[in-house]
Formats: sequence, C-alpha cells, structure tokens
Amino acid sequence: MLYARCAFCGYTAPLNCSGSFMPHPTMFVELTAMGPTCPQCGPLPPVFTCPYMHTQYLYIPGVTGTPQPGYTYAPVAQVQAGASEQTIQSQLGKVAGEVGKKLGEGVVQGIFGQ
Ligand SMILES: [Zn+2]
Ligand SMILES: [Zn+2]
Repeated sequence: MLYARCAFCGYTAPLNCSGSFMPHPTMFVELTAMGPTCPQCGPLPPVFTCPYMHTQYLYIPGVTGTPQPGYTYAPVAQVQAGASEQTIQSQLGKVAGEVGKKLGEGVVQGIFGQ
C-alpha cells in the first residue's frame, strides 16, 4: 500500500482514488512504472491533497525526480498492508529525510553554481 503524509499537518493516509472524471468506488492507488496508478483511471498526477486542503506534490522514492526548491512534497512510502502506525511513520520519516537532504543539495548547487 502506498501511504502519503501531509507535509503541513502530518495527516497520513493510504493513497486512493475515487475517480477524477468518472466517479468509481474508492480504490487503492498502486505504484507502477508510470508512477502512482489507479486500477480504474490509470496513471494519476503526483499530487496529494489532505482533508484539510493542503495540496502538495508527492515524493515517491525512485519515481519522483529531484525535488524542486520552493515546492512542498508529501513523502510516499510503500508499506505492507496491515503494518503498524509506527512502521508506516518510520518509513515515511525516512522518505521525508531524503526529500530534505535532496532539497538541501539543490539549494547548495543553486548558491555555488553548476
Ligand atoms: Zn494537511
Ligand atoms: Zn481512479
């Protein structure tokens, strides 16, 4: 299962889709070579909006390219179904750390030239 965590409020939920153009029963989003993919709709835009209307990009290790400074990323972790909240949060924490590190490197490159 793909879990995402809101970078603003920490809201954590499995990524799911209930249809963008044609509503369908809620389905869990799967990770494919195309990125986050709904079994019904196909590849989805890598955007996450939490119930508090915080919209941000998804950061999926190995799928998302280099994070861009100035944007906010919700870490995404692939976690086994039934994993404990603690496991999910520790996986997400690792991904969030990776985003922060890469953003830091990007900023350094921006300051010191190419
Ligand atoms: Zn939020
Ligand atoms: Zn869908």
